[in-house]
Amino acid sequence: MISMKETELALLIDLYKDCPRQGPGSEAETLKALQMTGINTQNDLLIADIGCGVGAQTLVLAQHTQARILAVDLFPDFLERLDKKITEQGLGERVSTLAHNMDELPFEAESFDVLWSEGAIYNIGFENGLRKWHKFLKPGGVVAVSEMSWFTEARPMELEAYWAEAYAGIDTIAEKIKVIEKTGYRPLGFFVLPENCWTDNYYAPLKGHFEEFLKRNSHSELAQALVEENRQEMAYFEQYKAFCGYGFYIMQKI
Ligand code: SAH
Repeated sequence: MISMKETELALLIDLYKDCPRQGPGSEAETLKALQMTGINTQNDLLIADIGCGVGAQTLVLAQHTQARILAVDLFPDFLERLDKKITEQGLGERVSTLAHNMDELPFEAESFDVLWSEGAIYNIGFENGLRKWHKFLKPGGVVAVSEMSWFTEARPMELEAYWAEAYAGIDTIAEKIKVIEKTGYRPLGFFVLPENCWTDNYYAPLKGHFEEFLKRNSHSELAQALVEENRQEMAYFEQYKAFCGYGFYIMQKI
């Protein structure tokens, strides 16, 4: 995302900013992961929600805990939308936002109880992210991240080729757990995001924005290409959902 040309980036933000989420997920799955962390949600904890987008999961975490939450994203357009919801829901005392690159977070060592990141760590790579974020956790602190994963050892060649382009960091669940073990954490839990997290919660609203988006951008070549890219991803998902999807990984700093 960050290596893209400015116009492409602006289009991407324009397409996604009015969607309820910028990646697959759901309130139920955020709560399931929260339960797996084993944290006491009534404590005065400090959570960073990294790559928060417009903050779908930030708000769920805020509504179901007493924690203070810092929601971080590279793009202020997304954070503006989250800021508005924070104010509307009267959460301003506990929830704030920060525009920053997740690859070089300005946090103090051992300052967070929980690091949360749904559908975002891939931007800097799963292993790189887990290594770099480790120092920001208090001893015994927990991480919950969702990450694109292979569900099977053998995959159709066409699908392999697609993901080699889209996200070469995709790997099997077993390999992802190995990464967790070698970067200073112990796994606490894992589950796969169910299909509705993609179809109903992510793709359906996104599809609903295509026409307006194309109109707003005068059906430019780049805008059409972006819509086409998304349509293709959706088609691949439908065809190959048995082979890959998002895994939710919950772990604790050793
Ligand atoms: N967690 C949200 C958004 C997931 S999409 C949800 O599940 O709905 C990935 C998010 O990562 C986007 O909002 C994007 O703006 C953000 N992002 C991409 N690269 C980033 C970087 N280098 N630093 C911080 N955020 C980044």
